[in-house]
Amino acid sequence: MTIRYDGQVAIVTGAGGGLGRSHAIALAARGAKVVVNDLGGSVDGSGGSSDAAKAVVAEIEAAGGEAMANGANVADYAQVEKMVAETMERWGRIDILVNNAGILRDKSFVKGSLDDFKLVVDVHLMGSVNCTKAVWDIMREQAYGRILVTTSSSGLYGNFGQANYGSAKMGVIGMMNTLVLEGAKYNIHVNALAPTAGTRMTEGLIQEDAFKLLTPETVTPAVLYMVSEGGPNRTILSAGAGGYAVAKIVETEGMWLPPEEQTPEGIAAHWDQINDFNTVRELKAGGEQTIKFVMAAAAGHGIS
Ligand code: NAD
Repeated sequence: MTIRYDGQVAIVTGAGGGLGRSHAIALAARGAKVVVNDLGGSVDGSGGSSDAAKAVVAEIEAAGGEAMANGANVADYAQVEKMVAETMERWGRIDILVNNAGILRDKSFVKGSLDDFKLVVDVHLMGSVNCTKAVWDIMREQAYGRILVTTSSSGLYGNFGQANYGSAKMGVIGMMNTLVLEGAKYNIHVNALAPTAGTRMTEGLIQEDAFKLLTPETVTPAVLYMVSEGGPNRTILSAGAGGYAVAKIVETEGMWLPPEEQTPEGIAAHWDQINDFNTVRELKAGGEQTIKFVMAAAAGHGIS
């Protein structure tokens, strides 16, 4: 089975270079019409030029594909709305949104400024919110949509100097978890990519030998799978250097403690069972946690 996107329209943000460029080229090679969005700024988000996006469009067209360049700043909703309107005007639908644009302002928490923190959240989290919001009604009306957010191991697991970036990268997972529920009726899937790749963002941070193995092209198949018609939903797929793995947020079964043990000492005394990872489960909605605890409490109190 070959996965293709003929007749589909995709927007890839931050596609002027690095991972986004690779995603855009691969989607176009498999039949999608692609909006190559890129602000064209530096890694820290300063400056801007539409050249990067235009160069990727030229590459796609040279290979026989269809694409258009767009220079919208994903952090600016008015610009994002305009991008979506132009896409609808030209191609009449939007099937795929790959939220990929991003910047870095790495600093330890003690040294980092709140302005940098807000900017990073604005580009990664609000950028993804803006683009998703702008296509959401279109996808609902089409009863079809595949949305991807780009998270990071820095958000999932932490990374020194990246409290701002990590916060934004977990924020997009929060958005995904709820939009999966709200989009289910409309055949809208939302998934997350946790990539690791040698790009200008990681240049100098990764050893040269590893950098060569970690090509964006090894990550892109994870995106292609997740945004395909038969792809998964609510999945965090990690990818790098040809390796693919699924990350999950899980919760232990835990235990109900009788009233006299509902104390910090009671929790300490039962820590092994509360923290027993042999019992973990993935909860599919926040309410499942409440139900679990209320049922355990009712059983503990002898209420049926
Ligand atoms: P990159 O710097 O090569 O690409 C990011 C692109 O986003 C750039 O072309 C940039 O111009 C564009 N961009 C930045 N701000 C924008 C804005 N406001 N509006 C529109 N475009 C904007 O970096 P990359 O490594 O390809 O990163 C792509 C995504 O993957 C990012 O979200 C990044 O956080 C994430 N990521 C990368 C790695 C990695 O190892 N490279 C790891 C985890 C997550």
